[in-house]
Amino acid sequence: MTPRVALIAHDHKKDDIVALAGEYVGTLRRCALVATGTTGGRIASAHGLTVERMLSGPKGGDLQIGAQLAQGEVDVVIFLRDPMTPQPHEPDINALVRACDVHNVPCATNVATARMILDALAERSSDAA
Ligand code: PGA
Repeated sequence: MTPRVALIAHDHKKDDIVALAGEYVGTLRRCALVATGTTGGRIASAHGLTVERMLSGPKGGDLQIGAQLAQGEVDVVIFLRDPMTPQPHEPDINALVRACDVHNVPCATNVATARMILDALAERSSDAA
């Protein structure tokens, strides 16, 4: 089954998520991708990946992804949060991370953890190939 991966990054982390997506572009090409608006646009234009774009995070994009996750439609969340900058949509961010814990969905909030999860996905997709 094609894993559905959600990609989200706060503004100071957007370069990091674009670089990470570049590192794992082959793996991500074999996944269905969903992202918040700006993050999805950056990843799609940098790497030519097909990304289903939700609203921007501060406009409710995190909540849209959280709702999909609660319905069993998201298998992995890569959410590069900026721990140094207060965010206007902090409650939405917490709701999404909480939903991951409620539904036992892997959630990476930093690049090191994201690499571990993406390595596992890469291994799985090469097993399937
Ligand atoms: P963005 O949203 O990708 O639309 O910037 C991310 C966020 O701030 O949660």
